[in-house]
Amino acid sequence: MVRKLYTGPILDVSFDGEICQHAAECVRGMPQVYDTSKRPWINAEYANTPELAEELRQVTRRCPSGALQLHEHEPPT
Ligand code: SF4
Repeated sequence: MVRKLYTGPILDVSFDGEICQHAAECVRGMPQVYDTSKRPWINAEYANTPELAEELRQVTRRCPSGALQLHEHEPPT
């Protein structure tokens, strides 16, 4: 299992390509962060405000396989 970490200003996202089911919930939900045409394909830097970070949380939680995981820098208040 190879889980890669993508660092952002408020929270990080990690991804394990071996368990991704290619359901595309992520790219449909937040294409500014999840864009498979880019390298790296996850741009967690985009979520640089509390509002964008919350959007990123909601979209990332929709990942059905567990391939995407959130890593909060600080526990949400
Ligand atoms: S939502 Fe999860 S399972 Fe679907 S493509 Fe994205 S990472 Fe893969």
